[in-house]
Amino acid sequence: MNQESGDREPQHESLRLRRYQKQTRFSPIGDQGQICLLRASAVIVGCGALGSVIANTLARAGVGHLKLIDRDFVELDNLQRQVLYNESDVGQAKAVVARERLLEINRELDCEAVVTDVDFTNIESLIDSFDVVLDGTDNFETRFLINDACVKKRIPWVYGGCLGAEGQTMTILPGTTACLNCLMLDGPPPPGTTATCDSAGVLGPIINVIASIQSLEAIKLLSGNEAAVSKSLQVFDMWGNRSSQINVGNLRSRVDCPTCKRGEYQWLSGDAGSHSAILCGRNAVQLSIPDRPALDLQKLALRLNPLGTVSVNSFLLRFQIDAFTITVFPDSRAIINGTEDLAIAKRLYSQYVGV
Ligand SMILES: [Zn+2]
Repeated sequence: MNQESGDREPQHESLRLRRYQKQTRFSPIGDQGQICLLRASAVIVGCGALGSVIANTLARAGVGHLKLIDRDFVELDNLQRQVLYNESDVGQAKAVVARERLLEINRELDCEAVVTDVDFTNIESLIDSFDVVLDGTDNFETRFLINDACVKKRIPWVYGGCLGAEGQTMTILPGTTACLNCLMLDGPPPPGTTATCDSAGVLGPIINVIASIQSLEAIKLLSGNEAAVSKSLQVFDMWGNRSSQINVGNLRSRVDCPTCKRGEYQWLSGDAGSHSAILCGRNAVQLSIPDRPALDLQKLALRLNPLGTVSVNSFLLRFQIDAFTITVFPDSRAIINGTEDLAIAKRLYSQYVGV
């Protein structure tokens, strides 16, 4: 506390800290750690299952500036595990709903919602000057991209992933600890070779376990307690009642990692990865248009109205035609429900959206 700034300022500060008193009584945090948290910033990439638990926890903990990024909208089968959303949010952009909910929890937050697909063209500007990045994604392609960008920019990030009743998490401190690529030098498993949440499902409780650890790691980092950060890959099998901590502390010194040793950012350069993807367990395809001409959704709605059912707001347009639902975003990206065939999705896009 600054004793020299007069009576008003300390009183205001102590009022501000009062809502966090259970947290500040925990001595490694204290008032000073809380003030650090209030001044800190975090990016949450993906506001689905992991991301909504992380966002909720960090907002309540008083992390002052949060950026919520998500490419998707709320669906009914998200509600089993995506704790920020209700039935009335179905069809709305996740990042926008998440922001509204967080401000209801803590109106002192500086909270921004970004509805976009994170890719190699935008990730560096999205995370620029933030203190930490949290992985709320559901795919390795985006995680490797986060890893490249965070290692390059020296921003700590916390990896998390869940499948079935199992999950794992690791904190990456660029230049200090092993990065994701140190761990998986052959890159992510090729599509179709591993179980996905489509085939294996996923249980709510493992999401809460992994996302809680990710949140705690962020709280350690942002409250000035970097020394307490985990140096292990933490793995949990909640159904089999097993957990393990795999020490990766000296892994970086043992492997010749192109990312964190040689500064080769394969994912960030666009050499690896794709723009379009079949979405996990959704009977849906996402189409991304690389050069991103912006779309006027209101104009598109007028054009599509005679052809099918259209609903539109400033964040997305939804168009139902035959057995398909096409959701279009202002950045020209689309999610096509009703098919897992990329060719069919592309045909529908060019037929109705027409870019
Ligand atoms: Zn590495």
